Amino acid sequence: MSDCLFCKIVEGSVPSRKVFEDDSTFAFEDIAPRAPTHVLIVPKSHVDTIAAASDEALVGRVLLTAARIARERGLDSYRLVVNNGEGAGQTVFHLHVHLLGGRPMSWPPG
Ligand code: AMP
Ligand code: ZN
Repeated sequence: MSDCLFCKIVEGSVPSRKVFEDDSTFAFEDIAPRAPTHVLIVPKSHVDTIAAASDEALVGRVLLTAARIARERGLDSYRLVVNNGEGAGQTVFHLHVHLLGGRPMSWPPG
């Protein structure tokens, strides 16, 4: 999608601090981290939201990529977050999983 920030990050026309890449997923440091580890994991192909996603294998790959990055960073407690829709705090409409770790997490999220 030509006007999508995360598509531009995936293709490299907007810079990012890349953490991981494979054929279908891309991960990079969040620009405004909310925790010592705050990585965003996205599918390379554009889909607006988890609600609009239908490729189960791809969504699974995104989640397992998040878990792999957490493992590589030595995190055994961490949180994966997917905001769906403006009311839940979604600001970038390209599906992404937040990997947050390295500090205590409260529950439920605000
Ligand atoms: P969400 O609010 O769930 O849509 O999350 C969007 C996330 O993207 C936020 O945590 C932002 O800090 C992050 N973000 C926005 N622009 C960039 C960027 N250029 N590079 C990395 N992260 C970004
Ligand atoms: Zn996109």
